[in-house]
Amino acid sequence: MPPSLQTPPDLLHGLGVPVSAGVPLAPRTWYRTGGNAALYVQPQSPDQLAAVLERCAQRGVPFFVLGAGANLLVADAGVDGVVLRLDADAFKQVAIDPEARRVIAGAGVDLFKLVPATAKAGLDGLVQVAGIPASVGGAVRMNAGGAPGDVSRGITRVRVMEANGAVHDLPRSAIHFGYRHTDLATPLILETQWQLDAGDPAELTNLYRTLYARKRDSQPMGDKSAGCCFRNPPAQGPGSADGATAGMLIDRAGLKGFRVGGAQVSPLHANFVTAAPGSTTADVLSVMDHVEEAVERTSGVRLQREVVLWGV
Ligand SMILES: Cc1cc2nc3c(=O)[nH]c(=O)nc-3n(C[C@H](O)[C@H](O)[C@H](O)COP(=O)(O)OP(=O)(O)OC[C@H]3O[C@@H](n4cnc5c(N)ncnc54)[C@H](O)[C@@H]3O)c2cc1C
Repeated sequence: MPPSLQTPPDLLHGLGVPVSAGVPLAPRTWYRTGGNAALYVQPQSPDQLAAVLERCAQRGVPFFVLGAGANLLVADAGVDGVVLRLDADAFKQVAIDPEARRVIAGAGVDLFKLVPATAKAGLDGLVQVAGIPASVGGAVRMNAGGAPGDVSRGITRVRVMEANGAVHDLPRSAIHFGYRHTDLATPLILETQWQLDAGDPAELTNLYRTLYARKRDSQPMGDKSAGCCFRNPPAQGPGSADGATAGMLIDRAGLKGFRVGGAQVSPLHANFVTAAPGSTTADVLSVMDHVEEAVERTSGVRLQREVVLWGV
């Protein structure tokens, strides 16, 4: 563990929760860059999770929730605190009820698997997020989506845990889902329920394959990245760009292929900053800094980052 990490290694002693110190986060994120988690914790139940949060609060140690790591950039120096991974069975339960048109999925469920399963069950509403790498918790937190739709469609309730361990079911009306954003004030999503529309399983499965293929053909899905690095500017008002997307502005600034170390603005999709094996988070951040400055200079728009930075 780098000396700058202050999290006490014995923080969670006696709780019976699986804990490892100094765990590399790079293999647990899509970017494959960055340093270690001071403590990497895999609670086996909501009760264990609540006990971890209580201990963190008592000792003033910050915690971070890791989903599939598909929208994360971790500092090269690592993350000083507790990194929580909800990958135990208790957080990966799925119930798909075609009759009731209802889907309930735990925060640790892989969206890659959930989405085709809903299509196969003849349920329409989630298929629109085909091909987006995410856990259910991370997808709902970010309101993951794209032109065909986003994950918020059909959500009826979200089960959350507060920092004090209290669990609540929030109705949809209590949550605002915006562009790649939710206003959830609670730090942890435990489970989400959707009420979807009825559809034809074969047609939905075809739609799933079409949307997935379209994404694969237009985005560098095989490279290491966090998807779109920057948010699209608003259509109107301050910071708008006459309908141009962030990718268009980056392309117009002539930045496709711009590189620092192993990090590069993707030649295929200008809003993806990819990282070749051996890259550092510092490389990726240098590319992002340059893109922000160059786009502001050429178009007057200051791009906002979509990727979540930990410890940077
Ligand atoms: C190749 C590629 C393509 C992508 N394409 C798209 C796309 O088309 N559309 C799109 O919207 N995104 C896209 N992304 C980004 C990413 O898939 C989404 O942002 C996704 O929602 C991230 O989910 P995750 O589980 O990986 O979250 P992580 O990256 O692990 O975490 C992201 C944030 O969510 C929080 N979080 C995670 N789990 C929980 C939880 N249980 N409770 C509370 N907070 C939580 C984390 O603390 C963090 O703040 C792409 C990424 C890649 C690598």
